[in-house]
Amino acid sequence: MSSDSSRLLPRSEELRERALKRTPGGVHSNVRLSGAQDFIARAKGAWLYSVDGRDYVDYLLGQGPNFLGHAPEQVVDAVAEACRGGVIYGGQHELEVRASELVCRALGWADMVRFGVSGTESVQGALRLARGATGRTKVVRFEGHYHGWLDNVLTAVRDGKWGAASAGQLSSHLDDFIVLSWNDADRLAAVFEEEGDQIAAVITEPVMINAGVIEPLPGYLERMRELCTRHGAVLIFDEVISGFRLGLGGAAERYGVEPDLATYGKAIAGGFPVSALAGRESLMSRLGTGEVNHSGTFNGSVMATAAVVATLTSLFEDPPYERVAKHGNTLMIGLRDIGQEYGLPLRVAGLPPAFHVAFGDAPVTDYRSLQQLDLARYERLSKALLENGLWVAGRGVWYVSAAHGEDELDAALTRFAAAVAGEVGR
Ligand code: PMP
Repeated sequence: MSSDSSRLLPRSEELRERALKRTPGGVHSNVRLSGAQDFIARAKGAWLYSVDGRDYVDYLLGQGPNFLGHAPEQVVDAVAEACRGGVIYGGQHELEVRASELVCRALGWADMVRFGVSGTESVQGALRLARGATGRTKVVRFEGHYHGWLDNVLTAVRDGKWGAASAGQLSSHLDDFIVLSWNDADRLAAVFEEEGDQIAAVITEPVMINAGVIEPLPGYLERMRELCTRHGAVLIFDEVISGFRLGLGGAAERYGVEPDLATYGKAIAGGFPVSALAGRESLMSRLGTGEVNHSGTFNGSVMATAAVVATLTSLFEDPPYERVAKHGNTLMIGLRDIGQEYGLPLRVAGLPPAFHVAFGDAPVTDYRSLQQLDLARYERLSKALLENGLWVAGRGVWYVSAAHGEDELDAALTRFAAAVAGEVGR
């Protein structure tokens, strides 16, 4: 997908030209190749400001991390203060202990935690730990679920089959994965029936958000839990997006189903690069004995743990979840109303803290049914949304933060309506 930089203002244009010379595609993550290309000068609360003086209401939130809004003072101050006493020690420190205690307290079900830097690597830790603990190799995963960019988890559909998504990716690393359609409990049960004694783990986004927001059907996660328990497989929830966003206890709390291991990132640290692998002591202790290796120079740094402590303290002391739900709900309704007003088949679905906008009205329960929607039409609209000052992802997932209030709501609806009016030529 090529990016649209045709309407960049002068300063952004100049920076983009320089970036293209020194950085492949001008971006440091391929996810951004197809996104907005305006250069950002600064961000505060729910707003981004470009180098050319444009402002944007932000519903991308850095792909999720800015759940407290941009530059939340209590987090930024805590990190700055802590780092004045050293950034990384190569040894243990009190903030690590406090951050781990807070994570376990927030989650409720988890006994122990190991911090990392990216969601991708915490997922790898979870997979290795599950295999190490069970002595089995196979892992069940689901179509359209994203678990990072490494060889054994990155997938795309080619000719109707799931396989490697990138040149250079060793497709043999995908061999031990059984890819199923999501929300189909009978299919999962059948696979366990056939090869349950070889399955180390089931890994799932407990609510699909990355590809488009789809909730688990009633009873689905419960059945998954029950099958894993019965067959001795480890249940891994990838809560990199849902964690701390749907509530302090993430999707596990919302749907009342406890995994054995779970991965977190994004909302855990107020925008700072931190991830976590959390789990039950019986599994996690294998990292502590050294039996299963999990390492990383930057794990548990002063910056990371200060950010986690400040973020979780804020979430405990001033829970934003009701505010976020109210904003998200009102916004979802407002976007639907605008769609109706302009006679567009706009579909706004999902959860108030993370919802999905597309065109079409197909019933969506999994990745394949999601593809029945007109996602390309929304992607085109997203360019107009950017032009009108809404910072959104082309794939239609909108994130709401604790910093979104009435002003942002008014601005978002006005700007959305202007973009839609422009698109339909009114
Ligand atoms: N799991 C899920 C569900 C994700 O959405 C993402 C990233 N969007 C990851 C894992 C990987 O996280 P990271 O980009 O921090 O490596």
